[in-house]
Amino acid sequence: MQTNKMAKLNEGAFLPVIDKCEGCDRIVEADGNKICDTYLNPESKWRLGLCNFATHAKPEVKVVKVRINPLKAAKRASKRN
Ligand code: SF4
Repeated sequence: MQTNKMAKLNEGAFLPVIDKCEGCDRIVEADGNKICDTYLNPESKWRLGLCNFATHAKPEVKVVKVRINPLKAAKRASKRN
């Protein structure tokens, strides 16, 4: 398994990581270059926002409190039955 992985990394298809990847645990060094163990082109993973496999950056989950009118909630619940 490890041999296959190193062969894959040495093929040269992997592009170097970008500065946003710094700190990620998936970075490996091959031939003096820092490359991503998971993606061929790390830059494209960051184009639309956070890389979903990044170990050092997680998306912020916003908790939005929704105010519920208890009278309306009770009415809605009674309609379901
Ligand atoms: S998993 Fe994402 S953040 Fe980590 S090195 Fe690869 S592309 Fe960069």
